Amino acid sequence: MAEKPLNFIGGQWVGAASGDTSKVINPANSRMITEVPKGSVEDAKAAIDAARNAFDKGPWGRSTPGERALYLLKLADLLEKDADRLAVLETTNQGKTIKQARDGDIPFAVDNLRFFAGAARSLTSAAAGEYAGGLTGTSFLRREPIGVVGSITPWNYPLMMAVWKLGPALAAGNTAVIKPASLTPLTTIEMGKLIEKAGFPPGVVNVITGPGSVLGDALVSSPDVDMVSLTGDTATGRKIMEAAAKAIKKVHLELGGKAPFLVFEDADLDAAAKGAVAAGFVNTGQDCTQACRFLVQESVVERFSKKLVAEAKTVVVGDPLSRETDMGPLVSKAQLEKVESYVKIGKESGATLALGGKRPAGKAFKDGFFHEPTVFTDCDPDMRVVHEEIFGPVLTVEPFGKEDEAVHNANDVIYGLYSSVWTKNVARAMRVARALRFGAVEVNDHLPIVSEMPHGGYKQSGFGKDLSLHSVEDYTQLKHVYVDLTEAQRKGWHYITYGKP
Ligand code: NDP
Repeated sequence: MAEKPLNFIGGQWVGAASGDTSKVINPANSRMITEVPKGSVEDAKAAIDAARNAFDKGPWGRSTPGERALYLLKLADLLEKDADRLAVLETTNQGKTIKQARDGDIPFAVDNLRFFAGAARSLTSAAAGEYAGGLTGTSFLRREPIGVVGSITPWNYPLMMAVWKLGPALAAGNTAVIKPASLTPLTTIEMGKLIEKAGFPPGVVNVITGPGSVLGDALVSSPDVDMVSLTGDTATGRKIMEAAAKAIKKVHLELGGKAPFLVFEDADLDAAAKGAVAAGFVNTGQDCTQACRFLVQESVVERFSKKLVAEAKTVVVGDPLSRETDMGPLVSKAQLEKVESYVKIGKESGATLALGGKRPAGKAFKDGFFHEPTVFTDCDPDMRVVHEEIFGPVLTVEPFGKEDEAVHNANDVIYGLYSSVWTKNVARAMRVARALRFGAVEVNDHLPIVSEMPHGGYKQSGFGKDLSLHSVEDYTQLKHVYVDLTEAQRKGWHYITYGKP
């Protein structure tokens, strides 16, 4: 990269106060791309102060929804214009294929921003009304921003997650400090530049890079931050909740997943196998909605497994910058080693390794964090590979007998984010959709996510929704305003009423 990336604090581009930096690596070849500031508590404090000031004293705190919508629309236009360059940067830093970054993540992030711009103007509260007994007073609700939001984003969808956090927070009128994952900070820093170009007032969005344990903790524990939003590991979510409990701070958590993919004997098995491979190896399996647990009815499990393996063999693993590539490297050496450790666990637990299971051979893969598409068959629900999050290109296939058993086994994990059911029987699809304890159920597909619909978990996949009007509401708080209509004829403690019908 030509110029060294910096932090964006109060409208200024600055290095870490300590002068420290950390290296950013290209996972396809282990080479250093650049260095970014290694922020500390001091930098977090400067960013929080800037956001606080912008909320309490700047023009943003008095902006109208229509004004905020215009800023978001401008940002969307700038992002769209810069999509080619940003897609290459995302791929180089994260390892996802250029097809996914350029044709998927970035256009979707643009659409998300345009949706949030519209949502800014659509937020409503309940109608006013006379609830206090007689026509003596009118109550109404104000929907207000929460204040300063600390956003902590993961490394699997760096730019898109920045939009999913900043879009609703800004639409609702908050200011923000965003901390991208240390492995993948580059497109978030670039987004800071677009935010500056779009003319957002200084301090409305602040970008700081550095270790989550230090900066994240500073965000959660600061009394000047009103809400913390995280997409990341369930263990990190737990730490954030514990720290936030001390200050009774609002948290919004999108955490791990272990999505089941239920295939009934009447399903179109060819379509299911194609859908399985797309949803199983998307983003090299580093996706909290990844279809990774295939629960297949006994009568078709062998046929489905064969089709799945045949389809998985067509996945082209390679240079993520090539348009021919379907699957790039994992994001880091640590993530690759995590995947390898689970492959070992799978083999030791008696599952049949039907495909893959190792790093691909060849010069092109030597220095990157690549792993083959991997399929285990003959699995059962007790195996660790079946119920623990791997977050890599590893799929498991387990048989089931009846519908009840499928639903029970699908639900029998600590996570509850995404799921799908494959059947031609509409009544069964509806029954299963109702019984699955997941924040999303798809019928005869697994991947589609849309700006208008909420994305978020049940159980230990977290709470609070991303996307949709619900996410914008999550970044607001409600205020009851009561106005006396009697012109002071009814004052004093003896008139206090709890409201009558
Ligand atoms: P983390 O949860 O650690 O990372 C997500 C974000 O949280 C990063 O920005 C990270 O910063 C930050 N963070 C880390 N520790 C803290 C803390 N104590 N307080 C506040 N913020 C913190 O995920 P990992 O990178 O460790 O990945 C581990 C596993 O998590 C993966 O293997 C996968 O299973 C799961 N995961 C799930 C994701 C999802 O989309 N649901 C996304 C990413 C991971 P930093 O990068 O500086 O550590």
